[in-house]
Order: sequence, then C-alpha cells, then structure tokens
Amino acid sequence: MSSPVRVRFAPSPTGFLHVGGARTALFNWLFARHNQGTFLLRIEDTDKSREHDQAVQVIYDGLRWLDLDWDEGAGVGGNYGPYFQSERNAIYENYLQLLQTKGVVYSDEGALRFRSARKSVIVDDLVCGRIEFDRSTDPDMTIRRPDGSWIFHFVNVVDDIEMKISHVIRGEDHLTNTAKHIEIYEALGVRPPRFAHIPLILNRDGSKMSKRDEGSSITSYIEQGYAPEAVRNYLCLLGWSPKDNREKIEIEEVIKLFDLATINRRNAAFDLDKCNWLNGQYVLQMPLGRFWELSEPFVRKADIPISDQRYLFKVLEIVKEKIKFFRDVPDWIGYFFTEKYAFDPDAVAKTLKSPGALGRLRQLRERYAAQKDWSAAGLEAALKQLGAEVGCKTGDLVHPARVAVSGRSVGPSLYHMLEVMGQARALQRMGRAIQEFS
Ligand code: GLU
Repeated sequence: MSSPVRVRFAPSPTGFLHVGGARTALFNWLFARHNQGTFLLRIEDTDKSREHDQAVQVIYDGLRWLDLDWDEGAGVGGNYGPYFQSERNAIYENYLQLLQTKGVVYSDEGALRFRSARKSVIVDDLVCGRIEFDRSTDPDMTIRRPDGSWIFHFVNVVDDIEMKISHVIRGEDHLTNTAKHIEIYEALGVRPPRFAHIPLILNRDGSKMSKRDEGSSITSYIEQGYAPEAVRNYLCLLGWSPKDNREKIEIEEVIKLFDLATINRRNAAFDLDKCNWLNGQYVLQMPLGRFWELSEPFVRKADIPISDQRYLFKVLEIVKEKIKFFRDVPDWIGYFFTEKYAFDPDAVAKTLKSPGALGRLRQLRERYAAQKDWSAAGLEAALKQLGAEVGCKTGDLVHPARVAVSGRSVGPSLYHMLEVMGQARALQRMGRAIQEFS
C-alpha cells in the first residue's frame, strides 16, 4: 500500500532550471522515496509564454538527467507527463465559485481579490519552526487578473488541495507566501498540508545565488559533462547531511536517512569546488560501462570513428583517471582512432625537434620492432634498457615517443598507451613522425 505522503515539484517554466529548484525537486523526491509516497511534477504555467515548450523541456531534461523520476501526471503507461496548470482552468473556475459563495472574493478594477481575514497567521513549519505572521494590515491579494489569468497563490493552493498534497517542501523564499496560502485554505475550510521550507542557497560571499552565478544552471552541468550522480550527491548536501562528515554517499542511503527533521535550518553555502571534487571522486570510482555511457553523447557528437568496441574500452580504461568532465573525453581519446591526428607545434618543438631526438626515436622504433612482449611492463623495460645502453635519460626517449604516437605532450602513461595501440599501429606512427620531422 502506498503511504499517504504525496509531494510535488511545482516549477514555473522560465527556461532555466536553477540549482535551488533542482535541490527542491530532489528533497521532495527523497522524502517521497523515503516514505514510499508519491512524487509528482506540476508545471506552473499560468502565464503561458511563447517559449513554453522549450522551457518545459529544460525542466524535463534536468530532472531526467538527475534521475528524479515522477510518479504521476496526465500521461499514461509509465510515461507520465506532468500536470500543467494551463490545462486546469475548469478546476480553478470551480474553486473560484466556491470562494465567491463564501463571500471572500470581490472585484476591483476588473481584477478579483481575496478578502483577507486580517489577523495573524501561524505557519507551523517542519524546518523553520512556528512563525507568526501579522496579516492585519496587508493589502488583499489578487487571485485573478483582469485578463482572466490566475495568480500563483490561488492556483497553487487549489492544486495542492486537488492533488492531495500532504507536504509542501519548497524554498524558504516562499515562507511569507505560505501565510497568504493558509488564509485561502481557511476560507475554503480545508486543512492545509504540512509545510517544510528549505534553506536558501547562498554564494560563498553570503549573497543569494542568482541566475548569473557560476554553477547555478543545471543545464551547464549537463553540457560540461558532470556525472549526474555526483551533482545529485552534491545537491543532497545543500541543506542536509548524513551527520557523520561523509560527503560521498550513495543515493539509496540518502533515501534511507533522509527526513524533514534532518534538514538544516541554516542557509546552505554553494561551493562549486566541492561539487567538482565530488565529481572527480565519482568519475574515478565508476565502472567502465558507466564511464562510457556518460562519455558516449560527447564522443558521438565529436564524430570519432569508433569501430572496435574492445579497443575503445581499453582506451577508456587508460584515460579514465585523467578525465574530470565528460565533455573532455573526445579530446583525450580522439588520436587513438585516427591516423590523421594533429601535432601540437609546441610539443614538437620541445621534443622531436630537439637535438638528437629523432635519432633516439629511430633506435627506439627498431628496438620496439623486435619487441616480443608488447605489454606496458615489457615496453617500459625495453625503453629503459635502451636508455642505459645509449646513455640518455628515460625522458629523452619517452617524450619524443609520446609526441610521435599521439601528437601531444600529455596523455596517459606512454607504455600503457603503446600497449593499447598495439605494435603495428605504434611502429607505423613512430615511422611516420620520423619521416615528417626529419
Ligand atoms: N511555481 C512556484 C515556484 O517555482 C512553486 C512554489 C511551490 O513549490 O509551491 O517557485
């Protein structure tokens, strides 16, 4: 049996999914999953703009990327669409009539206003505690504009009633709205849901995080190729913690531990460095299959010609520890898959063009042509042996060889790179570089 916990994420489609919004969605989702309750998505699109569909898509993309699945909506067959306020006009008309029969609605220059009871309202919040709002002097709120469109306060309350929302979990910036909302509930004679206002997310300098701040848009994480599980983990820590100093924590465990009583009262400080650090930890520890899954869209977009899956996975295995963001994967692996890799002029000048370099590379190539054991360890031993024989430093052989086979001065360990490329390809590349730069 499903529990009576019913929560919702209710974004307005602004074309932007803010970190704070994503965190609100996440906390609702965690609370629903912890209680085996229901999490639903409601798009608050009462002012339907021209960019509507695209703006809704940004919300879907963000939630799907974070793997925050919703349970209910107007769709069918496990493929639920969300609720759209723009499709619920008849419901709002009914509730308006209800309020009208109670005599708390009047029209004022075409707009409809709600007559406040002008008293103090208590918000008994599960995070912020009991707060009293004096509403005796506040102006009456508008619930419908002269053009017939609805105001947020009214439709938000109607939907929470209609959707049987048990807990409203949203940002602390809505706290004063909640006092207004409670007045509408009282006028309708409906018991309000429980409220949990979660702390604001602030920049490190204490200012409120805005759209312009780095790291504020979920789209930017998607485009840079963060690991979604890392970002989701980071968002968990914005106002919540497992209370034992752990930072990397699996989502299943967060679900187990998460409760509204464990949300911090204090504002959360946004720290992109910490998010990046967590991302690095996830990338380092993730299985290769997952690593490829997250790299693939970027690799496809870069048109890297991959025909051999086994070769691909060997390449991924040796570059994995170098990768911070998946967007960078094509650049790290591209030269493994084409013979037309570009030579970085700086790297060439410092290595292949330095005195004696090509001669040494020729000798190394000869040694490697006769090499039986084409393993990283075997290749390392052979290279060091040659270095000792000709009396040069290991680096004097390693650097030119690296630039010859990859065109660049940074990459995974040379020996592993050669092992993965295979003998034929490696010799061919060295030979070509010797010719080209002689
Ligand atoms: N559409 C409102 C917002 O995006 C919803 C607030 C709420 O969760 O009730 O801020």
